[in-house]
Amino acid sequence: MRSTALAMALLTTASTAAAASGATPAAIERATADVLPQVVAWRRDIHQHPELGLQEVRTSRIVAEHLRSLGMEVQTGVAGTGVVGILKGGRPGKVVALRADMDALPVTEQGDLPFKSVQKAMWNGQETGVMHACGHDTHVAMLMGAATVLAQLRAELPGTVKFIFQPAEEGPGGAEPMIAAGVLRDPQVDAIFGLHVFPYTVGHVVYRAGPLMASADEFTIEITGKQTHGAVPWGGVDPIVIGAQIVTSLQSIVSRNVNIAKAPAVVTVGKFAAGNRSNIIPDKAELVGTVRAFDNEERARIRARIEGIATEYARTAGGSAKVTWDLGYPVTVNDPALTERMVPTLQRILGPGKVSVGPLTGTAEDFSYFQQQVPGMFFFLGVTPPGQEETAAQNHSPLFFVDEAALPVGVRSLASLAVDFLGGG
Ligand SMILES: [Zn+2]
Ligand SMILES: [Zn+2]
Repeated sequence: MRSTALAMALLTTASTAAAASGATPAAIERATADVLPQVVAWRRDIHQHPELGLQEVRTSRIVAEHLRSLGMEVQTGVAGTGVVGILKGGRPGKVVALRADMDALPVTEQGDLPFKSVQKAMWNGQETGVMHACGHDTHVAMLMGAATVLAQLRAELPGTVKFIFQPAEEGPGGAEPMIAAGVLRDPQVDAIFGLHVFPYTVGHVVYRAGPLMASADEFTIEITGKQTHGAVPWGGVDPIVIGAQIVTSLQSIVSRNVNIAKAPAVVTVGKFAAGNRSNIIPDKAELVGTVRAFDNEERARIRARIEGIATEYARTAGGSAKVTWDLGYPVTVNDPALTERMVPTLQRILGPGKVSVGPLTGTAEDFSYFQQQVPGMFFFLGVTPPGQEETAAQNHSPLFFVDEAALPVGVRSLASLAVDFLGGG
């Protein structure tokens, strides 16, 4: 009795309009069950034929053919290999986007799946295996499945769904160029959803309102001093001592400048290169490091502090320093109001105790670029068999494994989030 009452209450709050029109949770569940064998087949086929970033030619062809077969307006070649499908519902309403990334990694698969990858590619001048070690094969298959489900409910759908299949999430990034190509406009997207498979328990979803994943920026500090004999240090300017002081001073950024009540951050120097023997003071030193932040303002502040410390300290010591940046993806920030509104949808699908708030994650995601333009929600879909969470291989491992029982959960989640967002008015 209690669970029925709860289900009814959630159904009326989360999807009143959609439910009234026929795109009910039961209809989505049925359509998901129908498409599941195809989702599994797509996933295995794509897993066996992985493609590196911006080379997703075969994958995007499969996606485009499927979306066309559903009667959608389809754009191909968006930002290279990206594909966009536009599904116009039978009634007017808002526009919701669902996103999947399509690229694989230069990793040689070590598992023994019957559909294991045998693909090879050149990477940094060397031949290497290619593998969907981050699970983007499942993202593509689940979003193709959600497209099938939503196309079946098309007449009942109050609004438009955009299906965004992007290239090169693992680098150099496909989200930003797809946005530049206009994927969030014509029609203008009101909200976007995306998921990532992760070694949480299968059948579980983990989310977080606000910051979820870090920004990741790399910096190089080139210090110039003045060469001299190691026995005559007063005859030059020692870039190693300057570099050592800079490394030490950088530690004060996190301890003295970052507002840790807002979000944590990391500043690491991972490389310090200078000199070649004991009695020569060189004229140059190089520091290379990484910055991880969970707040875009703090990220900018840390960047300014690193530049200030490096250049000012080197100048005071009689040398100079130049800081250059390789800026990575911004912080992945889930819109708090959208997240709060949509979590009941996930709770309804997964059942009690299976939707939980997760910790901050130090990896980065270019879904963050979409979220800088429109409210977005990104969440983790558990794919690890129960009992194996502690020992499961992480994403990017040559042993990364996805329990396919997660696939219908992902299809239903994506389809239901779209329906409930549109139906919620
Ligand atoms: Zn990855
Ligand atoms: Zn990934």
